[in-house]
Amino acid sequence: MKSKSQLKEHIQHPIFKIITQAATDLKVDAYVIGGFVRDIILNRPCKDIDVVAIGSGIELAERVAKLIGKNTTVKVFKNFGTAMLMYQDYEIEFVGARKESYDRGSRKPIVEDGTLEDDQNRRDFTINALAISLNEKTFGELLDPFGGLIDIEKKIIQTPLNPDITYSDDPLRMMRAIRFATQLNFTIENESLQAIRKNRQRIRIVSKERITDELNKIILSSTPSIGFKHLFNTGLLEIIFPEMANLHGVEFIGNKGHKDNFYHTIKVLDNICPNTDNLWLRWAAILHDIAKPATKRFEENHGWTFHGHEDKGARMVPSIFKELKLPLDHKMKYVQKLVRLHLRPIALVKDNVSDSAMRRLLFDAGEDIDDLLTLCNADITSKNEEKVKKYMDNFKLVEKKLKEVEEKDQMRNWQPPISGELIMETFKISPCREVGTIKSAIREAIIDGELENNYDAAFQFMLKLGKELNLNSEA
Ligand code: ATP
Repeated sequence: MKSKSQLKEHIQHPIFKIITQAATDLKVDAYVIGGFVRDIILNRPCKDIDVVAIGSGIELAERVAKLIGKNTTVKVFKNFGTAMLMYQDYEIEFVGARKESYDRGSRKPIVEDGTLEDDQNRRDFTINALAISLNEKTFGELLDPFGGLIDIEKKIIQTPLNPDITYSDDPLRMMRAIRFATQLNFTIENESLQAIRKNRQRIRIVSKERITDELNKIILSSTPSIGFKHLFNTGLLEIIFPEMANLHGVEFIGNKGHKDNFYHTIKVLDNICPNTDNLWLRWAAILHDIAKPATKRFEENHGWTFHGHEDKGARMVPSIFKELKLPLDHKMKYVQKLVRLHLRPIALVKDNVSDSAMRRLLFDAGEDIDDLLTLCNADITSKNEEKVKKYMDNFKLVEKKLKEVEEKDQMRNWQPPISGELIMETFKISPCREVGTIKSAIREAIIDGELENNYDAAFQFMLKLGKELNLNSEA
């Protein structure tokens, strides 16, 4: 961690001197505040600088742009009283110091001009309320009215003012507290946790997009389980993502219980993180067992079963994505596909698996086969180390076999050797059911290993199929 004197080093970049000059010219005080200050203390790279002016932020931004010259443009957001400009790779936002008061029905505050202190009071957490002076006489001095520096050192998230009021005023802060705790591996102070639990229903006044933004930041951190445990324990998860909260719990019949699917899921999610930064693969990990509660049965001879949870889970993906305002495009389709296929590689562990089963999986997974294998690997969780090792070894064998079949048959990006157009041309037919029947018969025969994967073999096979369907060809 940095000492106060070391902080000065981080504001040696010429942009800070320019802001100082502009503030002196306009006779206003200016400070760097919030996330930038927090991140330099934490040694995290940060390219977003927030500057607060005790006066007009827009005028300060315009003066700074003039001093930089080179046609620097200022983007002004009049409604918010803010302005933004780019300098080298920094994005600098200027705002006038403000005092905020809240109305219960909305998280949008009533805003009036204020002092630096007012502005620090309106910040969500002590670690986000730190400011560094950019004024000539006090340049580089840290202003830390709430002990944010100590909280960074002790790794604590707490609010500057009464947590009950802070979270109730703007309930998005509940998600932000959990997000920062997850990203930074900080503890949320107990009163804050209690206040979040108490105010959890207020999350409903926050737009779903904002909630999901925070959720995605939790998911993209290195140990997302930290965030999901907080979301569950505070009762927020049940409100914002009930299907996932529903995974929690173990049911017993006699002495037979099943895995707690919530803890299993967040373990799978943590497991996958070192192997991928792909948000959608991480979402597939979250959703792979989402239909377990809905498909759970107790069978006398088998114990607990979850037959068909992969298909049902895939069918649940669109409504979950819609509800969470996640994209409904190819990203959703990708998640669906991985959820639907997540049991398939493990089913190939048995010794006597045929090449055609391998080819079928390679064909079904297509270009996503590596991601599917990453998901399956992460899905191997057990308290029993020996079991994990055995499953992992088996899984490596499957991976090896799949690779061999892929090298031999190249099913990954399989393109049909015979197109629909060629079928129509050969038999002089227009688009109809027979075209589809022939295409899929060719595909199936290739996957089953009955037909070689090339044009000549497939063409002859097509002629034979045509004959069987009473189609005429001149070939
Ligand atoms: P990140 O860039 O990782 O999202 P950040 O802290 O920089 O972190 P921003 O959303 O850019 O996040 O916010 C900048 C600063 O504005 C914060 O550090 C905090 O001081 C303040 N802030 C942002 N959102 C809120 C809020 N909902 N309530 C109170 N203060 C907030």
